[in-house]
Amino acid sequence: MAAIPPFDADLLRRYDRPGPRYTSYPTAPQFKPGFGETDFARAARLSNDDPIPRRLSLYAHVPFCFSPCFYCGCNRIITRDKARAGTYLSRLVREVAMLGPLFDRDREVLQVHLGGGTPNFFTASQIGELLESLNTHFRFSQSPTRDFSIELDPRFVDKGDIEALAFMGFNRASLGVQDFDPAVQAAVNRIQSVQETQAVIDACRQHGFRSVNVDLIYGLPLQTRAGFGKTLDTVIVTRPDRLAVYSYAHMPQLFRAQKQIEDSQLPSPEDKLGLLQLAIEKLSAAGYRYVGMDHFALPEDDLSIAQERGGLHRNFMGYTTHADCDLIGMGVSAISHVGDTYSQNPRDLPSWEIAIDNGHLPTWRGMELDADDVLRADLIQQLMCQGEVDIPALEERHEIDFARYFAADLDRLAALKADGLVETSPTRITATSRGRLLLRIIAACFDRYLHQPQSEAEPTRFSKAI
Ligand code: SF4
Repeated sequence: MAAIPPFDADLLRRYDRPGPRYTSYPTAPQFKPGFGETDFARAARLSNDDPIPRRLSLYAHVPFCFSPCFYCGCNRIITRDKARAGTYLSRLVREVAMLGPLFDRDREVLQVHLGGGTPNFFTASQIGELLESLNTHFRFSQSPTRDFSIELDPRFVDKGDIEALAFMGFNRASLGVQDFDPAVQAAVNRIQSVQETQAVIDACRQHGFRSVNVDLIYGLPLQTRAGFGKTLDTVIVTRPDRLAVYSYAHMPQLFRAQKQIEDSQLPSPEDKLGLLQLAIEKLSAAGYRYVGMDHFALPEDDLSIAQERGGLHRNFMGYTTHADCDLIGMGVSAISHVGDTYSQNPRDLPSWEIAIDNGHLPTWRGMELDADDVLRADLIQQLMCQGEVDIPALEERHEIDFARYFAADLDRLAALKADGLVETSPTRITATSRGRLLLRIIAACFDRYLHQPQSEAEPTRFSKAI
């Protein structure tokens, strides 16, 4: 995958259906409560025993936000009580201290990511305390390729914060913007000026951050082509290395904050597609490449380069260049991927707190992947990252006869093939340029859980956490 895919409104309309975004396979709704602390510890032990143990990626979740954005579908806690950061941090540090000894000390940490919520709800010195604790209980890589990234809400970045973060080793930042149009900002309760956003981007550049990502959303209330076009132009001038342009999914029955959004102010499906088209055209003209699943990057960005070399990976944090890491999640709702297991901490703060206070790892649910899960995860990963599946390589890795094993899946793929989304040969399944905006639809053909009898299937949460 490389250049921006062509825009086909009719096709996108026809395939506009909910579905998983495959930041993991199997997806989180398949995790079971029977998978707990001892299972996680066992998975960690087994991962240490691999002939070449994988390096580590650490994710810490900070759930607090100062005010509710009405479009938000994230697991977050709205509060202005800064004291909550301190109590949360003290437990997070205890969780780090429980996790560290489970992993061999010689396993380098190649990636650290702070997500939320709003990670900069913590002060710079609290973030420093968290990093120090991570560095004490794990071993940070000194490689220049290591990635230390943080999601920032530019409205709450104080003077000197970026310099302090750079000093701690952070070299990537992701900034929420969504739209600069004042009417849209008022309708979604997120007032954020161009100037304060620009100041954070400038500070990141000044202090040597390797990459800056900006998140935008299309389909928000009161959004217009003119307003969103202006936002895109403003953002493109700042030249972020990466851009995510997410589709707003209006599901007020699932996300309470979205009840504040008036249905009548939402763009029609037609207009919403027009906004996507505008984003694709403008980003394409500005030289961005389409990485996949709403993500764009400059050709010289590591994501574009990794994709060209076949080294792109997708996990709970989105696209990443570090394909060979075990992921350890900490904090409320955080997800881990260690060896062939997934596990997740409780989504509610009190349950997470009680587990930590009692000296337990707060593993709430998870699953051990069977051979079929591992095979399909491998296939879906290739599709989502490279836009194609190398059939002989997959057959060799998993000792299968592809055509026989995936006969039912290939039947499902036939309709997509007829629509020109995908091409198949005995050695390759390839998303066409038309299919590249619909990668998740192609991947869904190979999702066993979506196609098993209803009684065995669990409901899937279809939203994107933004
Ligand atoms: S969009 Fe981000 S800042 Fe806004 S409420 Fe959700 S998590 Fe918090």
